[in-house]
Amino acid sequence: MTQPILQVRDLTTRFRTDRGVVTAVDQVSFDVAPGETLAIVGESGSGKSVTALSILGLIPRPAGSIDAGEILFDGQDLLKLDADAMRAIRGNRIAMIFQEPMSSMNPALTIGKQIAEPIQLHQKLPWKTALGMAAELLGQVQIPEPASRLNAYPHQFSGGMRQRAMIAMALACKPQLIIADEPTTALDVTVQAQILDLLKDLAQRLGTALILITHDLGVVARYADRVAVMYGGRLVEMASADDLYRQPRHPYTRGLMACVPRLDGDTSQALVPIEGQPPDLTALGPGCAFQPRCALAQAQCRVTRPMLRTTGGRGLSVHLNACHLQETP
Ligand code: SF4
Repeated sequence: MTQPILQVRDLTTRFRTDRGVVTAVDQVSFDVAPGETLAIVGESGSGKSVTALSILGLIPRPAGSIDAGEILFDGQDLLKLDADAMRAIRGNRIAMIFQEPMSSMNPALTIGKQIAEPIQLHQKLPWKTALGMAAELLGQVQIPEPASRLNAYPHQFSGGMRQRAMIAMALACKPQLIIADEPTTALDVTVQAQILDLLKDLAQRLGTALILITHDLGVVARYADRVAVMYGGRLVEMASADDLYRQPRHPYTRGLMACVPRLDGDTSQALVPIEGQPPDLTALGPGCAFQPRCALAQAQCRVTRPMLRTTGGRGLSVHLNACHLQETP
């Protein structure tokens, strides 16, 4: 079996707020292998973006803190690194792509400078070589006439081109892991598909692991190899994408599937929204976080937290589910 490049173990991230302590990520564990795409899905506030920020060492302090767990990247625990060591990994061996490139790009610097600088910094190359590589990367992400675009500023690019340039920036140092947080949400559907096709293709060709954070199950079905479903800061189900779509087991995952139009055009099944609101993380009870919205909830669900258990498969194809009603294999 391929050795995972990333192993997250019992990650617990909390924030101190005026309303109390929020456990935004609660004992979350998962692995990602080289060349694999893991999608993390869930509603807003489910903990998916905070999981990403925890891996990147970007939890704002002192309000936030990682209180427990390990984040093993290529065998090294990122939580034990100091700020300088983490900076050397971030943007180099681990790259990120955010939803809105304008908020991550410097509007006063040319695209070429923004791509070439990390190459020069991390790979210690002469400026001319780094700039040549930046043009090559713009070509790889299918920006026409890449050499002449090096001198353009971000505002001179369309939204789709900016996101392509972000992917070029992310790939600049040949990272082993890319974390893409809702990378195409702000784009129209056609451009979204082009960008995700490109990202997946490049990641596979380069053997880069990809964590795709999204609330869009259509994106998950098309691009993910495996899926981790989060609810209330907890991982509630994880499986290969095929297995999850064929046999969703957790009531929340089934609820998510029931409110998405079917890709095969079958309109015989009505779309069913999940009743209720996402949980207030300052007031979670001792039981299942989904219990107030779950039609199948029983007395036990209010008092005992269901832990993730194997319900089939093995290795990276294991199917895990955290529900008291699950059948054991
Ligand atoms: Fe529903 Fe209980 Fe399963 Fe939670 S543990 S999802 S409340 S049945």
